[in-house]
Amino acid sequence: MLAAHNLVKNYGPHQVLSGVSLALKPGELTALVGPSGSGKTTLLRALAGLEKPDQGSIQLGDQQLGSTTPAPEGASWPYTTTGPAPFWPQVTVVFQQLFLWPHLTLRENILLPARNLPGRDHEAALAHWVKKLDMAAFIDRYPNEASGGQKQRVAIARALMLRPQFLLLDEITSALDVQQTARILEFLPELKAHGMGILLITHALNFARQAADQVAYIEGGKILEAGPAALLNKPKTAALKKFMQDAALAS
Ligand code: ADP
Ligand code: MG
Repeated sequence: MLAAHNLVKNYGPHQVLSGVSLALKPGELTALVGPSGSGKTTLLRALAGLEKPDQGSIQLGDQQLGSTTPAPEGASWPYTTTGPAPFWPQVTVVFQQLFLWPHLTLRENILLPARNLPGRDHEAALAHWVKKLDMAAFIDRYPNEASGGQKQRVAIARALMLRPQFLLLDEITSALDVQQTARILEFLPELKAHGMGILLITHALNFARQAADQVAYIEGGKILEAGPAALLNKPKTAALKKFMQDAALAS
């Protein structure tokens, strides 16, 4: 299990997370939804060990990360790179900004972080994901020669090469058109079958309704509702009701 317990995170005088608890289970997809600026990315970064909480803790199995946990040797908080964080690679993140290295081919981009993990057949794993994500036609191109959707699949494959227990995805389809978005979202339930726990920050509420095992609604740094995906159909709070109405207008 990967869990946040009563997480508080401040940026200067501004409290961005105000006592957030959320547990991700292996083999389950959790959709985290909420308005812009509500703390979604901050929560995801904290769950990945990229941000240190001011109060509360993050727990991965028997590892605990709290406000007094020192940064790993040679590093300091917060982590701004994709480099090793406390829970890496068991917890791996993919952001909307892809962080692909422009001077490497997409194939090399996928292989580079995995090479930090010796004793595995990376070529075989790569071949597997190239097939699964239908990337053969463009895998030897450079990032500037691929579409947004293709690059997003590459970023996902790069994360999957690390065989994470938990995969945290921050608005990975927000910049994509409907076809490219569907191509990626359709693939996510397959990963659950491998026992991977997934956190998906998304505006794709219909997908969340269909595919999520758990939905959490966050606003103003607090999780106001959490439970089975059906809660999106019957909001209890006025806040989620309004959010769903706004979403219906925009779709
Ligand atoms: P969301 O992902 O839901 O849009 P964020 O977690 O990115 O929200 O941000 C929540 C709030 O924290 C916002 O008000 C944002 O401006 C603020 N914030 C995020 N990161 C930082 C930072 N590094 N320094 C200061 N304020 C930040
Ligand atoms: Mg965000």
